[in-house]
Amino acid sequence: MKQIIQQLTSSEHILLASHSNPDGDAIGALLALGLSLEKLDRHVTLHNESSIPEVYRFLPSVQRIQKQITTPAQFDTAVILDCGSLSRVGSAAEAIGAIPVIINIDHHTTNKRFGQHHLVDVDACATSEIVYRLIKAMGLEIDPAIATAIYTGILTDTGSFRFSNTNQAAFAICEAMVVAGVKPSAVAQYVYGTYSLGRIKLLNLALDSIEVSNNGYLSIMTVTREMLAETGTQPEDADGLINYARRIRDVKVAALIHELENGAVDDGGRKSFHVSLRSDGSVDVSRIATTFGGGGHAGAAGFSVESRLSDLKQTIYNLSDGFGEPCRVN
Ligand code: 5GP
Ligand code: MN
Repeated sequence: MKQIIQQLTSSEHILLASHSNPDGDAIGALLALGLSLEKLDRHVTLHNESSIPEVYRFLPSVQRIQKQITTPAQFDTAVILDCGSLSRVGSAAEAIGAIPVIINIDHHTTNKRFGQHHLVDVDACATSEIVYRLIKAMGLEIDPAIATAIYTGILTDTGSFRFSNTNQAAFAICEAMVVAGVKPSAVAQYVYGTYSLGRIKLLNLALDSIEVSNNGYLSIMTVTREMLAETGTQPEDADGLINYARRIRDVKVAALIHELENGAVDDGGRKSFHVSLRSDGSVDVSRIATTFGGGGHAGAAGFSVESRLSDLKQTIYNLSDGFGEPCRVN
């Protein structure tokens, strides 16, 4: 932490970036640290290659996040947030890799310890928790804009204080953020309370797509490009839907197969998919994701593949043989 603070305070131009298809933590950590470093009069550029999901566009200064990095050579330091590997930032990974000093701030168990400086804490509930600690260690004031970013990062990454990463710090920091000016009901209304009609219709199609393995331990939900077109929705509208598939009794692992927009990759019907995995706590899905070239946490992980949909489903179904006996409490 000391070395990182020294590096940040002695840098002129700092690039901050988080993972593509960002969630609330990737955006919250990016904004919170970026706005804080500006208080130190650093020249700060915020980057995320994807569009910011609509539910996070209420965050103060969110419009500062740029999709493109026009002049990577101007930066002396890059801070990479909520990324297990540098490639998670997307197409700018190579240009960012050439920035002289890279600081890696993350909480994924699969973090590859890339960059010269690491602030990786797999026990942190969110990258926003680590960013909070860093801001406090720099002695900076947390204004309502920064507080809202940190609060949103922790709220969303803990599934509203329900997931297994929900720790004491999640409550302590969020309380401090409310004292600093966050309005919990307003944040909840933006993040969870304003679904478009299309998103509700997509939920309907996604629920209808759920299949469960013969032993009942694994559920698969599928969201295709066709479903998005039919409901007039965007890929971001599928965020969080996997939690319905995970809630089914006896299900240990839920998989959401998400067809990506680049479509068919060959004539054999192969397409690009992102697979999100969620566990009830009895199976470490980050290990499963790692075997497919992805990563994440024990309870939430993901990977991308090119496959035929039917082959991919079969591969995922085969995993459930290893999940053991269900543990029913009623
Ligand atoms: P999701 O499935 O919701 O996209 O992501 C679940 C968790 O797994 C998140 O913490 C996310 O950062 C991580 N994750 C998802 N896809 C990948 C991937 O392809 N590679 C790595 N390293 N982590 C991923
Ligand atoms: Mn995170």
